[in-house]
Amino acid sequence: MCESITIRKFEHKDIANKVRWINDPENNRFLHYDLPLEYEKTCIWFEKNKDRTDRYDAVIEADGQAVGLIGLLSIDHKNRKAEYYISMGEPAYKGKGVASAASELLLDYAFVTLGLEKVYLYTETDNIAAQKLFRRLGFKEEGVLKKDLFSKGKFVDRFAYGITRDEYLPLSEMTPIQCLGDLDGNPLFIKREDLLPYSFGGNKARKAQLFFADIDKGNYDCVVTYGTSHSNHCRVIANMAAARKMPCCIIGPAEVSDQTFNSRFMELFGAEIVSVPVEQVHDTIENKLAELKRAGRNPYFIAGGGHGNLGTQAYVNCYEEICRYERENQLHFDYIFFASGTGTTQAGLVCGQLMHGDDRNLVGISIARKNPRGRDVVIDSIHTYLTAKKCEVAEERIQDRTIFVDDYIGDGYGIDNADIEETIKNAMIQYGIPLDSTYTGKAFLGMKRYIREAGLKGKRVLFIHTGGTPLFFDDLGRL
Ligand SMILES: *Cc1c(COP(=O)(O)O)cnc(C)c1O
Repeated sequence: MCESITIRKFEHKDIANKVRWINDPENNRFLHYDLPLEYEKTCIWFEKNKDRTDRYDAVIEADGQAVGLIGLLSIDHKNRKAEYYISMGEPAYKGKGVASAASELLLDYAFVTLGLEKVYLYTETDNIAAQKLFRRLGFKEEGVLKKDLFSKGKFVDRFAYGITRDEYLPLSEMTPIQCLGDLDGNPLFIKREDLLPYSFGGNKARKAQLFFADIDKGNYDCVVTYGTSHSNHCRVIANMAAARKMPCCIIGPAEVSDQTFNSRFMELFGAEIVSVPVEQVHDTIENKLAELKRAGRNPYFIAGGGHGNLGTQAYVNCYEEICRYERENQLHFDYIFFASGTGTTQAGLVCGQLMHGDDRNLVGISIARKNPRGRDVVIDSIHTYLTAKKCEVAEERIQDRTIFVDDYIGDGYGIDNADIEETIKNAMIQYGIPLDSTYTGKAFLGMKRYIREAGLKGKRVLFIHTGGTPLFFDDLGRL
């Protein structure tokens, strides 16, 4: 199923391949060698350069066979940057994602192993195919260098492209994807957002990382948010605030204020919990923020569930991770299922897809809201995000890509039933994976029913485990 792509240091035995590849007119159109490249001269080049620490020359292997060249030039440790190059040699391996996968390995090496801050490259303006690859990898165009080289009898213009450590690294910290086996004739995979390494993970941890990156950049001195005593969002926010010794105020509806594992964590983190009847939540938030400002404080407000553009961005990033996983493993998910609540997670995934341009089905399983409102809220978030990014997408396409299914809500938000309990119990026994009755257990069951009812066969399916592990323990006594 998955072809393995590796890169390794260029060795003496690779010289013959290099000479053959570079002399192939299909390959050398945009290269700048003195042609034809000679074997003897390449041996001399190899001996002279093999021990240099300011360059890294490597060979790309696909399933053990050498298929191309890749590397870093002018490695500048003081300014922590290097120039990247790639040249695929074997025609049969072009356009198959091998160059992408190898480039990511090289960028991992540059940023993680070498600890560089920036990788850059130059590309002839006519080399459209290469530019596609570079942009897909996350490189950005930084300018045009006019008449930059005299090559093959004429002056050519080149683009300068670059990618920085911060632009690249978030992608390399991916949550795992595992294969769970067969589901009614469809291979089922799961992306473990619950394993994000912070406060039991989950989609709220992914969103909170971006909110707190924003907080850390400003001069805020306290945080205000809202949610119930069951809220994963409030637990994670309270944890991150406590780690910064920042006061955290959580406003919640008195109707759902029973003790849970999440509420016990909020107490442990020293959050101030303000419990009011649901219809007073809005005013209480306004009053609290005004009161803090009057007292000379600078509060940062986070909407319930991490709703908003930063929350959406978190799941654009997650979508990019999924695409990257597919490239590295040479596979494609036909369907992606997940629990949809405030819809921010779904909005981010859909925006990721709209910017990426593929056509798979992203199916949000509603855990509470009915249509049309549930879907409208997702679409609002998508519009808000795309407008902020100045990204124009046809309305028809947004409508077409937003699949919000409200058939599996059961008896309402947070309400359990025997089928959901059975699903949770089985997932724990069969896979060793905790689900919960409010979100992931309900969505997992909804996905199973959807697949059966739609008669899907031979589709590769990905379920996104959006976290909520403390809720699993609330359910455990009832299983
Ligand atoms: C909040 C939450 C969801 C829903 O995410 P939204 O972005 O609000 O749609 C799904 N699963 C878990 C475990 C959650 O905590």
